[in-house]
Amino acid sequence: MKSSRRTFLITSLGVVSSLALSRQAFAADAAKVSESDPTAQALGYKEDATKVDKAKYPKYAAGQDCGNCSFYQGKATDAYAGCPMFAGKQVASKGWCSAYNKKA
Ligand code: SF4
Repeated sequence: MKSSRRTFLITSLGVVSSLALSRQAFAADAAKVSESDPTAQALGYKEDATKVDKAKYPKYAAGQDCGNCSFYQGKATDAYAGCPMFAGKQVASKGWCSAYNKKA
């Protein structure tokens, strides 16, 4: 009785941790935002911040990129991570869009 309960607990933990792992794998595999994506076009998103149309987006200043934006969901060292402006997709750490908001 005791040992079957333990087996059950171990099995449940295994299921929970593999679910957590597959969710992480999904996040890492999420598609990257394409510059031709309608939301990307609307927000002026560029995968390379230095290519931002400065005439159209005068608020852009050199040094700003997704990696130091408050919306970037990864670490500054992650090349790509999620952003709420592009649900379910990943933006480049070196990218930029007009919703940029400097991380405090
Ligand atoms: Fe990058 Fe920030 Fe724009 Fe998201 S909101 S795409 S993190 S600049």
